[in-house]
Order: sequence, then structure tokens, then C-alpha cells
Amino acid sequence: MSATPDPDTFDVVVVGSGPGGQKAAIQAAKAGRRVAVVERERDVGGACVYTGTIPSKTLREAAHTLLAVKRNARFLEVKLGAQTEVATLMTRLDEVLRAHARFIADFFAGNGITLVPGRARLVDAHTVEVQAVRGTVRRLRAEIVVLATGSRPRNPPEVPVDHESILDSDSILSMLYLPRSLTVLGGGVIATEYASIFSLLGVKVTMIDRGPRPLGFLDPELVDRFIQHFTAHGGTWIGGRATKSVQISRLGEVVTTLDDGTNITSEKMLCALGRSANVEGLGLAEVGVKQGKYGVIAVDAHYRTNVSNIFAVGDVIGPPALGSTSMEQGRRAMCHALGIDVGAAFDVVPIGIYSVPELASVGLTEAQVRERHGGVLVGRADFSEVARAHIAGHQSGMLKLLTGPDGGKILGVHIVAEGATDLVHVGEMALINGNDVSVFLENILNFPTLGEAYRIAALNLHNQLVAKRAAAVAVG
Ligand SMILES: Cc1cc2nc3c(=O)[nH]c(=O)nc-3n(C[C@H](O)[C@H](O)[C@H](O)COP(=O)(O)OP(=O)(O)OC[C@H]3O[C@@H](n4cnc5c(N)ncnc54)[C@H](O)[C@@H]3O)c2cc1C
Repeated sequence: MSATPDPDTFDVVVVGSGPGGQKAAIQAAKAGRRVAVVERERDVGGACVYTGTIPSKTLREAAHTLLAVKRNARFLEVKLGAQTEVATLMTRLDEVLRAHARFIADFFAGNGITLVPGRARLVDAHTVEVQAVRGTVRRLRAEIVVLATGSRPRNPPEVPVDHESILDSDSILSMLYLPRSLTVLGGGVIATEYASIFSLLGVKVTMIDRGPRPLGFLDPELVDRFIQHFTAHGGTWIGGRATKSVQISRLGEVVTTLDDGTNITSEKMLCALGRSANVEGLGLAEVGVKQGKYGVIAVDAHYRTNVSNIFAVGDVIGPPALGSTSMEQGRRAMCHALGIDVGAAFDVVPIGIYSVPELASVGLTEAQVRERHGGVLVGRADFSEVARAHIAGHQSGMLKLLTGPDGGKILGVHIVAEGATDLVHVGEMALINGNDVSVFLENILNFPTLGEAYRIAALNLHNQLVAKRAAAVAVG
């Protein structure tokens, strides 16, 4: 007769059930290990499901539908009412969240993963203490521990976030009604996405950041197009300005004073000034797990901390802090921990920003190509040339293909357009496979599709090269 396993002893304990924790747990279970996942929230899924990716994209879908109806059905008078409830714009959210959480919970159960509700703390390298809401405490033992505790909004003390007038990315969607006006502090991904979404929903949005432009890490031409679109739809961008003070008036309005003395008054504010790693109370110092800049957990290339059986993945280890990368880090960390072949390391990470319009990018920027290859050739496709974009009513996009001065290997792809976050994957595959631009000239793509933009950009680049060679021959 085989002995019943100790219910508190596992091969792997994962702390956090967001994308990073999920994929680590599933990989371990698929390899036949006994796995527990500790989660302090009522439901599994993490920030990705409840406050991040899924809710923000559900609201975006509503804004986008409104825009599409306005564009394509001009015979209809489309206007949101003065007191539109945010919840009515996201009627599908509950359904989407429930389906997602149920799917994850069923998947855990189906793979024999034990879900342990409560707040986890490391006691030693192999012991995780879990305190349940009712105060009961359980000590789990494991060979391998994975920390996937995610992040939360970073709200600096000078911005009095009260989740009523001044909200952060966790509380923004708890607003009952769409405000008449919204100030967005920040110029990063979350700020850009929400600023453009609310602007399309008819809210008067002012976006303020210290940087001269939002999304400083992106191709400047893409950002220019974004600003053009945002301001054309009623948004205001104020760049290169520091905020001197933020106050809530007696009437509950938010008054933002800039360093040049300008006052901006709005009904609500979204503070989107970055995120902090969830490391408090985890017992890192007690166990000797080292932290890096801004308190993130320090890991090596295989997501192993300095304590050899403890791994960390996802937002808690810092940038790029995306759902997409967190999942892959979880899978890879577990493969390394269990000695399973994980395949080649990834060094190409696509960026997808769900602003309106979408922005996406993969590979090198123009400046990087110039610096590393002694010059750059840029093939452009304006979406006014793309039949499918005309049919869908969004011709304001652009796709750029970058190569070195020889016009050969694709080194970067940058897109601003509806559908950019999907479209970029075609370029990503070409980049990963080391394809030349000619791959888009020598092969047939479906028509009419947004993918045609790759062929147009490739032709544009090819024609520049032909002209350059002809000019060189003429001079010679
Ligand atoms: C508004 C917004 C929009 C976003 N949009 C996108 C997008 O479009 N695409 C994209 O790829 N990414 C997006 N992200 C980022 C994405 O949500 C995160 O990168 C991802 O959720 C990180 O996954 P994670 O597993 O590291 O952590 P999380 O998803 O944060 O999960 C961590 C989990 O750990 C639990 N936990 C924490 N501490 C403990 C503890 N001590 N004990 C037990 N449990 C604990 C938490 O309750 C949580 O459930 C967005 C984020 C935000 C805020």
C-alpha cells in the first residue's frame, strides 16, 4: 500500500496566480511534479485578469466600436449620453473575467495543481508560510519555489490618490460615470492607452508628462502619428512639464499646477506613473534573496535568484513587465529548474500598445540601425495605399521596414495602425528567421489585407535601393 502524500509537501510551490505563476505551475505539473499555487486574492488570474490587460482591453473594445460606428455608419447619429455609466460600456467584462478565471481554475484542477488561498511568506529557502484570510496558517514545503507576485501602481506621495477623484490603474475602471474631463499623469504605456481610450469616449483628456513626448522608447514617427490622432480627437498633450502640485478642491475637482504656473482643472485624474514590485512581507531579506534597482527581485538569465532553489518571474523582476513575457518567463524558469530543454533564448520581444490607434514595434529603431550598421534604409507603407484599411475606414496608419544601407536583412518593424499589435508578428517572424526584405516581394500575400502593407513597404525600400544604385553608377 502506497503512503498518502503529506498534504503540505510539494515538489514546487508557486506564489501568485498571474500569467507568470500560471505558466510555471502548469509546466511543472505537465512534467509530473506535485505543485501548489498560493494566491492571496479571492480568484486566480492576477493583475492581468482583474485590473490590467483584460479590463483595459474590454473598455478599448467599446471605444473602438464607437469609433468604427461613427466612421462607417455616418447616417447614424452616435453620441454617448451625458451620464454614461462606465459599467454599461463594459457589459461583457464580467462574462470575460468569469470565463477566464473559471478556465484557469479548471486548468489547475485538471492538471492536479493544488490551489492554496492566502498570503505567502518565505520562512526559509524551502518553506512557504501561508496565512489565510481567517488567520489560519499553513506551512508548505517544496524543493523549488517560484515567486510570481506581480506589481501594483506606483503612486508618489505628492499625488493624493484617493480612488475617488484621483485614481490609479487599479481603480480607474471603478468610476461609476464617465467623467466630463480627465487629467492623465504619465507618458508611458498605461497612460497612453487610457488617455486615448477615454478621449474617444468623449472625455476631455489632458495628458501631462515630464518627457517631451510620450512613449520615449518608441519610433518617433509612430509617436507623432499617435499625438496627431489623439489631438485630432480632442485630446491635449502637454510634454516637458513637471507637476508642481496636485490638489482636490472643495468641489471635488482635481487641480493640477504645472511648473510654469499653469493650472489644469478636471473632474478626475488618472495617476499612471509606473509600477512597483510586490515584494513587501514576502520574507526576502530573511531568506537572503537579493533585490535589484527599485526593489525588484534580482535573477540570472534563467530567472534563478541568488538562492539556488528560488526562482522569480513576471512583473516582480522588473521590465518589460508584460503579460506576454511573464508567461514565457514562468515556463522557462520551470524548465531550467527541472532540467527540461527550453529551446533557444529569446532576444526579440515585440512591443504592443493598445492605444487608439495601436502601436507596435519589433527589432531595432532607426537610430540603432544607423549606429550599428553605418546607415539605414526605411521602406514605408502609408495605410492610405492599403485597400483593406480603406474598406475598414482607418487609412491613417503607417508601417516601416528597416534595413542597413545594403537593403538586405530586415532589422526593425514599426507600425501605427488598427491591428498593429497582430500585424507586427509577421515582421517578427521575418526578423527571427533572418529574412531579407525580398521575402515580401518574391511571395504572394492575400489581398485585400492589412498585411499588404509589408509588400508596399518592401517595394518602397527596394525602389530606393534601385535608385541609389543607379545614382552610384551614373556618378561612377
Ligand atoms: C492597465 C494595464 C494594462 C495592461 N495591458 C497589458 C497588455 O495589453 N499586454 C500585456 O502583455 N501586458 C499588459 N499589462 C501587464 C500585465 O498585466 C502584467 O505584466 C502581468 O499581469 C504580470 O504578470 P505576473 O504573473 O507577474 O503578476 P500579476 O498578474 O500581477 O499576478 C500576481 C499575483 O500574485 C498575487 N500575490 C502577490 N503577492 C502575494 C503573496 N504574498 N501571497 C500570495 N499571492 C500573492 C497577486 O494577488 C496576483 O494575483 C497591463 C497592465 C496594466 C496595469
